[in-house]
Amino acid sequence: MPFQPQQFASDNYSGVCPQAWASMQEANTGHVPAYGDDPWTARAADAFRSLFATNCEVFFAFNGTAANSLALASLGQSYHGVICADSSHVETDECGAPEFFSNGSKLLAVPTYGGKLTPESIRHIATARTDIHFPKPRVVTITQPTETGQVYSLDEIRAISAVCRELGLRLHMDGARFANACASLGCSPADMSWRAGVDVLCFGGTKNGMAVGEAILFFNRDLAQDFDYRCKQAGQLASKMRYLSAPWVGMLESGAWLSNATHGNACARYFAERIAEVPDVRLAFPVQANSVFVRMPEALSEALHAKGWLFYNFIGGSHRFMFAWDADRQYIDQLVADFHASAPAHPA
Ligand SMILES: *Cc1c(COP(=O)(O)O)cnc(C)c1O
Repeated sequence: MPFQPQQFASDNYSGVCPQAWASMQEANTGHVPAYGDDPWTARAADAFRSLFATNCEVFFAFNGTAANSLALASLGQSYHGVICADSSHVETDECGAPEFFSNGSKLLAVPTYGGKLTPESIRHIATARTDIHFPKPRVVTITQPTETGQVYSLDEIRAISAVCRELGLRLHMDGARFANACASLGCSPADMSWRAGVDVLCFGGTKNGMAVGEAILFFNRDLAQDFDYRCKQAGQLASKMRYLSAPWVGMLESGAWLSNATHGNACARYFAERIAEVPDVRLAFPVQANSVFVRMPEALSEALHAKGWLFYNFIGGSHRFMFAWDADRQYIDQLVADFHASAPAHPA
């Protein structure tokens, strides 16, 4: 069976972008202190503080599951509840890690369209039960952009955080593709996070073009107390930390974090526009970030698979196409051509 040289099944099929790679290379000289007491880690944390224009606490973890789970665990006690969307990564793709690392906090999954929570849905679940038999709602987690590529507007985030403040809930943001949302809204990282009321952000590096790594940013610094111990206990404290932190220096100081995301988003729109005319093909969600969710006849998806294209049947029965920092027009055009060539013929 053929295998296409570039795939759009996941943004994690891509390699490492040159800016992240160059910093890794540069960090690979001589000896520096271990466990984060090195100049690269300090420089990466400072780069985050300057990008976000605030004196936040910054931590580095290997992946998003750990970043989300440990961040959520730090926001409540084991008897607390964490309000999330039904299709959120924490609910559907982290193997119970948020519950595990919080020693039993219950995820309170809310039915949503496309993964977006609303102030009303949060208020509803946070106030539905006030008796001692139900886990006490304490945290809200939103994914920006959502797992289906929907971007919360600044007003939507502000409205959610207003309800959180009113009800005594803390607000966490899963930003596995935070950069794509920033690029989509054209807003500053600060406006989309702490200025909109987010307490803790998990900023994804892997899908943004790094080999590995997510940053956890505590805008509410009090909540970061002992977070370093939590990371260590969970096996997330890198001894040769410079290799986890140095790529961030390259990403943030060069602006690659944003240009990579801008490119991925543009490629998603480019693809979506070109398959829109294929017979019986529909977009399942509006394209607002670097993903395109496609509804298509079974015969068409089978024909594309037979041509060597990999993609997943995802949330709600649609097929997901993701566009990474290195998405290449040449291969997107080839995929579009294969869509057209394999589409069902309609009698005139
Ligand atoms: C990819 C992703 C993560 C992180 O996943 P890991 O595989 O644990 O790195 C977290 N949240 C969302 C929404 C994601 O898409």
